[in-house]
Amino acid sequence: MSQYWSAVVHGLTPYVPGEQPKLANLVKLNTNEHPYGPSPRAIDAIRAEASDALRLYPDPTAERLKNAIAVRHGITPRQVFVGNGSDEVLAHAFMALLKHDRPLRFPDISYSFYPVYCGLYGITFETVALDENLAIRPDDYLPNGDAAGGIIFPNPNAPTGRLLPLADIERIVAGNQQCVVVVDEAYVDFGGESAIALTARYPNLLVVQTFSKSRSLAGLRVGFAVGHPDLIEALDRVKDSFNSYPLDRLAIVGAVAAIEDEEYFERTCNAVIRTREQLIADLASLGFEVLPSAANFVFARHPARDAGELAAELRKQAIIVRHFRQPRIEQFLRITVGTDAQCGALIGALRKILG
Ligand SMILES: *Cc1c(COP(=O)(O)O)cnc(C)c1O
Repeated sequence: MSQYWSAVVHGLTPYVPGEQPKLANLVKLNTNEHPYGPSPRAIDAIRAEASDALRLYPDPTAERLKNAIAVRHGITPRQVFVGNGSDEVLAHAFMALLKHDRPLRFPDISYSFYPVYCGLYGITFETVALDENLAIRPDDYLPNGDAAGGIIFPNPNAPTGRLLPLADIERIVAGNQQCVVVVDEAYVDFGGESAIALTARYPNLLVVQTFSKSRSLAGLRVGFAVGHPDLIEALDRVKDSFNSYPLDRLAIVGAVAAIEDEEYFERTCNAVIRTREQLIADLASLGFEVLPSAANFVFARHPARDAGELAAELRKQAIIVRHFRQPRIEQFLRITVGTDAQCGALIGALRKILG
């Protein structure tokens, strides 16, 4: 029935999310979800809101959530935009701030949604190769005669897990004041330093974060951006031309309660960080080369074993990790940091597979 499709749809190459299989006893280490549940206070708040109140539309500006985010990060609510997951926030940023005549730049190995948004919005882009250690070279993002139309990269980068220090982020932002630089901080709470502090000094910097990873609320769909109020207004214009109510009532109250529960957040993220360090040591002892990670996943390859085959062998034992059939990284596995027990099961299975 594709004769009914618009020309735009014919040209789309959609993003393929990591699978969500419905198998019992699965060790699911493929989509970077947090192994510990959300704050109990978030669940209580969602329960309390699941009432007759759902009859009414939510606050279209989610003011309570913007306030809670502003308080936590020492900024004003006018510097905050919230959306239905950071994927939606990013999509609006592509349309509102990154679509220009000159090409958008991002790393060749990065979040694979970026080229998808470019396809959807008709944005031209250039990829910038990571170095031989799969690290971002900040100098490659400084204009060398040919200024970019925009720049976007995750920090820590995905799927490598590598972190760029804040001083390098600042060099890139300061050196590109002709365009917007978006820093996608989906994983920053697992060991990075946020660039939010820089937004006060750089009106061209937009920092995007999510509740999906460090707040363990992937199922609630809440993301946000922080930047100069002029950047936020651009995002609001796109949002109010698309969907006035991206966050429902449950999402607003759940996210507010989660961000207010600082103690739970710190404790569960620290637990993931501790498990990550053990996982890196265990993988290394099995002969894996593991990139340094500041995220809740590790990126590793075995010099003697094909990554696709390892992923298939693990799957037979009901352990799922992510393998990207993509040039330069086809020999790597991206492994989400689970509980100690899940990571122990992974290491046990790999020990058997490797013999
Ligand atoms: C997971 C992820 C996101 C999207 O998160 P949602 O808020 O769940 O939409 C964005 N960027 C990167 C790099 C991610 O890994």
